[in-house]
Amino acid sequence: MTTTEFSSSQQRIAELRRLLDHYNDHYYRLDDPLIPDAEYDQLFRELQQLEADHPELITRDSPTQRVGAAPQSGFQSVTHALPMLSLDNAFSDQELRDFDRRVSERLASSTAIDYVAEPKIDGLAVTLRYQQGELIRAATRGDGTSGEEVTHNIRTLRTIPLRLRGDDWPALLEVRGEVYISRADFQRLNAAQQRSGEKRFANPRNAAAGSLRQLDPRICAKRPLRFTSYGIGEISDPPPARYALLLEQLDRWGLPIAAERQVVHGAEGCIAYYQQLAARRDQLPYDIDGIVYKVDDLADQQRLGSLSRAPRWAIARKFPAEEQSTRLLAIDIQVGRTGVLTPVARLEPVEVAGVTVTNATLHNAEEIARKEIRVGDTVVVRRAGEVIPQVVAVLHAERPADTTRYCFPQRCPVCGSEVIRDADQVALRCSGGLVCAAQRKEAIRHFASRRAMDIEGLGDKLVEQLVDRGLIHSPADLFTLDLATLAALERMGRKSAENLLNALQRAKQTQLDRFLFALGIREVGEATAKALANHFLTLEKLLAADREALLAVRDVGPVVADHLLTFFRQPDNLAVISALRQAGVEWPARSPSTTTLPLHGKTVVLTGTLSRPRSTIKAELEAQGAKVSGSISAKSDYLIAGADAGSKRAKAEALGIPILDEKGLEQLLAGGKGEPPP
Ligand code: NAD
Repeated sequence: MTTTEFSSSQQRIAELRRLLDHYNDHYYRLDDPLIPDAEYDQLFRELQQLEADHPELITRDSPTQRVGAAPQSGFQSVTHALPMLSLDNAFSDQELRDFDRRVSERLASSTAIDYVAEPKIDGLAVTLRYQQGELIRAATRGDGTSGEEVTHNIRTLRTIPLRLRGDDWPALLEVRGEVYISRADFQRLNAAQQRSGEKRFANPRNAAAGSLRQLDPRICAKRPLRFTSYGIGEISDPPPARYALLLEQLDRWGLPIAAERQVVHGAEGCIAYYQQLAARRDQLPYDIDGIVYKVDDLADQQRLGSLSRAPRWAIARKFPAEEQSTRLLAIDIQVGRTGVLTPVARLEPVEVAGVTVTNATLHNAEEIARKEIRVGDTVVVRRAGEVIPQVVAVLHAERPADTTRYCFPQRCPVCGSEVIRDADQVALRCSGGLVCAAQRKEAIRHFASRRAMDIEGLGDKLVEQLVDRGLIHSPADLFTLDLATLAALERMGRKSAENLLNALQRAKQTQLDRFLFALGIREVGEATAKALANHFLTLEKLLAADREALLAVRDVGPVVADHLLTFFRQPDNLAVISALRQAGVEWPARSPSTTTLPLHGKTVVLTGTLSRPRSTIKAELEAQGAKVSGSISAKSDYLIAGADAGSKRAKAEALGIPILDEKGLEQLLAGGKGEPPP
């Protein structure tokens, strides 16, 4: 090696140590990591490799020779009777085999070594000291030699016994394990943090560490911390001969242990376990970043001993990282088929968990604002299991000087219509429902549906074909279709084409409420459409209504009023409405009051199998002023019972409500009072 090469290695080593120290400080002391773990691990490995090449440059204070970080002030410092070490990592099957070979060689074993495999839960290590079965002290790992005293907080964890079960425990026992937060609890915790305007946690590990290292135990008590044991420190009696038996013993004393633990044989057993758990990783209730393998025989563990940072008898096989950082090149807005605008991150390609990722979801405008994401930022991308990749955080320290705050578009990028906010206040939506190319198929499908314009024979496949071939752009175009065009479509003979044209012709004669419902205005369902039609009587009056006039309608609140106003403000929507009317879509004039209708004030319930569609009967009853309800109560006036009527009939009988069969229904509709069936 030349002098230049040596001095450049020396420089790089110094730089890596400085960087890793800086990242350690944020990770261990502030519980606020600056980079994803995978990137930290990469730098760590680079330093390990350089130090292996230049052993003369290894210093005791190098991050490769140390554990964690020194205890934080504010806590009492506890010196561990036995050091709490870290673990060496294996990132491939080969590295695991190398580990197994080293173990076999050191133990001069000719048979496969037994290991206990356990999930490597991502939390933080603590040690619990029991004297005469009583929990007397708990501490974090700290720098491995001394940690922070967190007894006050640990006492708030319900999974940790304050007193050991049974009576066969040693006079002194130090239990070691991981404090963590389950995935579901983490989601809930972050949602609560957000609601109360507090900082969200980057991941369950940081949430667990941040919670346990609270000076006020009342805060920790509110955090959903759990514990699992994976070893011991000081112990006054000899432990069982094997680690697997030791875990079972801890379990009997009331300490939680990992259900997934398993004894495996040799490197191949380790690899098989890895594959099996990797496949189930997403279904586990907690985040794991790998698997820990430990030599089962505790005497062998003793013989193998430890180095300054990690034991020789254990290794952590890491899973491919689910998080990586990369640059955010642009934010595109995708418009979904129901008009929801979703921001999508265009990324500099990056490999995450074995797949090259170039796009990731940014969820919605609020998430962009909350995470303060800007184009040009370095962002952390997460890809876990089958879930689509998402941008989970920004590395603010790496933000270039020339970035600007991201402004969410006010107009739909597909059709230019105004963007409206959903009632949930999160999703933003395009208001050009009738014209937006992104929503076209959905809008036309809804328009044609049975409860809307009821265009028989216009199924989903047909709508798809018509739109894909550019034959229709809006619901109004349906009425311009001719026989030749329709008959030329796939799976469409002349007869079906004729049928469809007839259905379109029939559909032109409709009702105002059906027409309003068919327009697919956000949150205007059948009931609201009916209320609007009954209130305004004509479309013209509805179009002319201001916010106040809309709010006067029963069923219409501020959100629906705003949706209506925005919808009717879009010139393109109005153009489609006008084209529909020109095509001949019409409805009978509505009478000003329903109070004169024969069934006004009557509540009718339908049940059982009826010979005509329920929606038709319902419309006929409503046309006469009746209210059709779904459930029987003392307030019901009639029950119309078809064949096989069940519990509703029994209830009506019990309440003494008149029960009509279909003949009785006809009489009722014809103006008679209807006779109960014999
Ligand atoms: P580690 O997390 O890789 O392994 C040791 C730890 O694993 C133990 O202390 C214990 O807490 C935990 N563990 C979980 N299950 C276990 C089991 N069954 N048996 C034994 N231990 C178990 O090592 P570490 O020293 O705590 O941290 C180093 C790792 O932390 C790095 O590999 C890196 O991923 C991450 N880190 C990240 C940053 C960053 O800036 N992103 C900084 C520092 C460290």
